[in-house]
Amino acid sequence: IPASRDRLRIAIQKNGRLAEPARALLASCGMGWRESRDRLFCYGESLPVDLLLVRDDDIPGLIADGVCDLGIVGRNVLAEQDGARIGAGRASAFREWRALGFGACRLALAVPEGWEWKSPAQLSGKRIATSYPALLGRWLTREGVDAQVALLSGSVEIAPRLGQADAICDLVSSGATLAANQLKPVVTLFESEAVLAGPIHALDAARGELVELLLRRLDGALRIRH
Ligand code: ATP
Ligand code: ZN
Repeated sequence: IPASRDRLRIAIQKNGRLAEPARALLASCGMGWRESRDRLFCYGESLPVDLLLVRDDDIPGLIADGVCDLGIVGRNVLAEQDGARIGAGRASAFREWRALGFGACRLALAVPEGWEWKSPAQLSGKRIATSYPALLGRWLTREGVDAQVALLSGSVEIAPRLGQADAICDLVSSGATLAANQLKPVVTLFESEAVLAGPIHALDAARGELVELLLRRLDGALRIRH
């Protein structure tokens, strides 16, 4: 993919919960695309705005590296990766530009249904499985709880049944997945929805104008939806 500086590039999820609503939102801003055969890249035909179809976890890094100008990603992913950067002594490189009103969920601490939940202190010495070590770590520090964090990239909710962990910290929307695994949510650590993410600093002049146009249309589309 050539690094064209006159066209705008937006990263969205290729498959998954945010893929379809992200495209629908951009289409409602008057964008239309021609898809490449490998389904990695969508060439914008009505505006000089192209889409890169990727895993959601890659979107903050693509913005940080300047490979993409903007991205549509869960606030949870953005906050986790920003927290990881800060924890590693690096500066923030991306931020939320707009909340988009879909993909709502929360990062919750969940414990076995049999536990009588009283306070975070109960987690001292326990093992908590999560894919969000930075957000969980920040909360544990704030609560003054000394717990072990087990990093899992997926299927976090089965960890207690497997004896891998005592509790979990995972994304929840309806709570059905937790219930199916005999877990109950006890604390919300973070509220999330899909967001438009961009760099910390403004874009250069040519693409800056394109971004202004896109944001005006996006704000119009978001107003109509609410
Ligand atoms: P990818 O293959 O792109 O890495 P993924 O499995 O990490 O996909 P999805 O499960 O499609 O991602 O979730 C994408 C985003 O959808 C989450 O980061 C979150 O912001 C949002 N979301 C909304 N509800 C839920 C939910 N119940 N569980 C997980 N994510 C949810
Ligand atoms: Zn992912």
